[in-house]
Order: sequence, then C-alpha cells, then structure tokens
Amino acid sequence: MKDDAIVKISDVSFRYNGEPAISNINLEIKRGEFLGIIGPNGSGKTTLLKIMLGLLKPQKGYVQLFGQDINSFKDWSKIGYVPQKAGSDVTNFPISVEEVVGMGGADHETITNSLVKVEMAEHRKRLFRELSGGQQQRVFIARALAPKPELLILDEPTVGVDINSQTKFYQLLRDLNRNLKLTLALVSHDIDVVAHEVGEIACINCKLVCHGKPKDILKSNFMEKLYGKELRFVLHGH
Ligand code: ADP
Ligand code: MG
Repeated sequence: MKDDAIVKISDVSFRYNGEPAISNINLEIKRGEFLGIIGPNGSGKTTLLKIMLGLLKPQKGYVQLFGQDINSFKDWSKIGYVPQKAGSDVTNFPISVEEVVGMGGADHETITNSLVKVEMAEHRKRLFRELSGGQQQRVFIARALAPKPELLILDEPTVGVDINSQTKFYQLLRDLNRNLKLTLALVSHDIDVVAHEVGEIACINCKLVCHGKPKDILKSNFMEKLYGKELRFVLHGH
C-alpha cells in the first residue's frame, strides 16, 4: 500500500470560456510524497488544485481520489486545503487564533492538538490579525489539519512570508510529511526555493512540462523550457 496513488489525474484538460488553462495533464500523487507543483504565474497551478478538490470539473479526462472516481468520492475530510491568499477573509476581523482554527467546527481538544502540530499553541488567545505572515500561515495549516486529513494541499503558502520564517515554514512542512506521514502537495511559482525543499516536483505550464526528483530536473533543460534562459543563472547560484 505504500506506493499507491492517492490522487490520479488522467488526461485532464480545463478551459475557462474556451481558453485552455490546463491541457492533457497526467499526474499522480503517491501516499507519503511531498510534491511541489511549480510553474510561472497563470500557468494553471491553482486550476489544477481546484480540479483535484472537485471545485472545478474538467471538460476532459478524469480524476481519482484514494482509488475512487472523484464524482462519487465523499470522504473530503481526508483532504485539507489551504487556498491561495487564505488570509483575506479573516485578517480584518478581531478574531482569535483558536477561533480561526475552530471555524470548521473542531472541538477544544482538536484545536489544541492542531495548534501543537504547527507550534502555535502558546498563541491561541492572540488576535489572528496581529500575527506575522508566517504565523498566520501556520494557523491556516492548523485549521486544515483539524479534520485529520491524509493529504494536505497548499496554494502559494509562503507569499508574504519573510525569508527567515519561510525556512522554518518548510521545516514544519517536512516534519508534517515525515513524522505525521502527511502527503503534501504544495503549489508555488517560486521554483528556486521549492525545488530545494520538496521530494518531487511537477512543473506545469498549461501542460505538464516535467515531473520527477528535483535534482534530476534541475540539471535537465526543462527549467529553461518552463521559465526561459534567465532562470539558468538564478539556479546556478545553488
Ligand atoms: P496559476 O495559479 O498558475 O497562477 P491559474 O490556474 O490561476 O494559474 O490560472 C490559469 C489561467 O486561467 C490564467 O490564464 C488565468 O488568467 C485563467 N483563469 C483563472 N481563473 C479564471 C477564471 N475564474 N475565469 C477565467 N479565466 C481564469
Ligand atoms: Mg494560483
């Protein structure tokens, strides 16, 4: 069972008003993986996540979750989701950290356990809006962890988080992946960072450009295809 695909995307295409956003994508996420989905802005990353979450229905292809067709899949508590700019709905209200985590109906004990997992338990009474960007992201992860998902999907989670906190943030994600055996799919346009943090990367630019171990992909010429020549110089710094 170790190697089974918990997400299977088969030949999926999606168009907004006739404009292709995702084209003929085949991609599997295996149990235990830490997958980084990377690509330039507008390359279809968020669209692909929304398809995996059943929020958008592809015009072509099919999706299986935990071995089941997405159209009959009901066990949505197995999947946690931290959307892009997750903060915008709560940052303006005087709401506490524990209230944010409890929004989905989690009880006191679950809220505590979730905050402990992201090392934010001592901040539970604080106002959410007074936290740093990195701390706010931890709280959103705690909220997504409350239903005890097996797969956690994060869309651009480090936007607005300073570099120092980003490093700690990725450390947290690695711990969740290793210690809690949580399967992670993280979307980012920041390939430079992500490629050094995740176990696998999938590069998309409407189509799937490449998929594999970061070290194999970084030394291939796929990145150039994806981002253009300037990128080679950026990556050579590492
Ligand atoms: P990414 O997350 O990689 O930045 P998106 O999946 O958000 O990319 O968008 C992919 C493409 O689809 C872009 O060209 C974007 O403008 C377009 N798009 C995204 N959402 C919508 C929408 N709701 N209606 C029309 N076009 C959209
Ligand atoms: Mg996006």
